[in-house]
Amino acid sequence: MNLNTFNIVVVGAGALGSAFLKRISTERIGSIKIVDGDVVTQKNLINQKFYSADDVAGYVQKADAAKTALSRLGMTTHVVSEPRYIGQLNAYSILRGADLVVDATDNIKTRLIINNACSKLSIPLMIASIRKTEGFFYLINWKGACFNCLYRNLMPSINTACDEISVDSARFLSELMFNCIISFLNDHSQPPSFTTVSFETHSQLSITIKKDPNCETCEKHSYSPGSDASFVQICGDGIKFSLQHDLDIAKLAAELPNPQIKDNGNAVITVTGRKRAFISRYGDFLFIGYSENDAHLFIERLLSLGILTSCDIPHE
Ligand SMILES: [Zn+2]
Repeated sequence: MNLNTFNIVVVGAGALGSAFLKRISTERIGSIKIVDGDVVTQKNLINQKFYSADDVAGYVQKADAAKTALSRLGMTTHVVSEPRYIGQLNAYSILRGADLVVDATDNIKTRLIINNACSKLSIPLMIASIRKTEGFFYLINWKGACFNCLYRNLMPSINTACDEISVDSARFLSELMFNCIISFLNDHSQPPSFTTVSFETHSQLSITIKKDPNCETCEKHSYSPGSDASFVQICGDGIKFSLQHDLDIAKLAAELPNPQIKDNGNAVITVTGRKRAFISRYGDFLFIGYSENDAHLFIERLLSLGILTSCDIPHE
């Protein structure tokens, strides 16, 4: 298989995800799907030209903004945006058909769900992350350890932290990730190695990690993320919830204070200048200037009105 026919799904279009997209924008790739329910905020403009001030002002979601950025860079590859958070309820439908998934989410719960879905769908998965002066990447080909094996054994070193990511580090890691993908395409039989990278010395260390014989994902096939489908994301601006449940925003509008319905069907609510909420048609919420309690109350009120129904059993 070569890149021309390769369908890549990139989950997470933050600092690392967008650097990786930029890196592959010069390549001829079969297709790219970008998955991220978050909206572009002022923070995303610092030190990078991938997103624009218009994206911030228009509450444009990163997946849509990244798609536009790639076409602005002249990329001719077919790009699909999925402006929604991935979770247990939609992971299979979003990832199915991919030849490779690149996970740049930096959210442990999401990573475990993607890892499990890729295992079930037999899709190679590249995970990557940056922590201040260090980063790592690992291409899981289901012959060696998976992310859950790593998580069980190396948890402290890969735990989530909301560090500011330097553009240079993201660019450097993206280059290594891309090279790793190319060598994987040339030789599928290589055992995967977990590579840590120092951005200070540019040195790399690769180690082979053995499967955990008790891994719930790749050995016992018993992984369960629990019944809580919504989540609060720690990094970035505001408080984030995902219901993974399409919403009829027009129907919802009657219950919202001062709703502004956008062309793409999403809604922005401005309570005060500082206190705003964004609701996407896919059931993702971003609360800016809300306390966590206020955000919970907002969701609970909509649930009590019967407008939001709770999520059903995940379909695989
Ligand atoms: Zn495993």
